[in-house]
Amino acid sequence: MDCPFVYANGRRCTGQITRARAYGRHDRWGRVEEHDIRKVRLWCSLRWDHAGAVSTFASKERMEFYPDELQKLGLYEAAIALCVNLLEPAPSHPATADH
Ligand SMILES: [Zn+2]
Repeated sequence: MDCPFVYANGRRCTGQITRARAYGRHDRWGRVEEHDIRKVRLWCSLRWDHAGAVSTFASKERMEFYPDELQKLGLYEAAIALCVNLLEPAPSHPATADH
């Protein structure tokens, strides 16, 4: 998917997002279910995390997006698909669900 990062001069990054990670309530392996996602961090093929030479907390946040931000950008589905730690919801077992 296209990198959503926009430079200060208004030019959009031409890189591709190659990796994403979901943040939110997670299990002990760091996996997050889609409905628990609070933020998604993206990594870009051209500029990696866009943090620049000075890596500060603020610059790290540049590549973190709330799910509704991604939806506005039309990138939500693609970003979720790239998440390396997305936990598939546990399949329901009809045979045992009533017990
Ligand atoms: Zn980029």
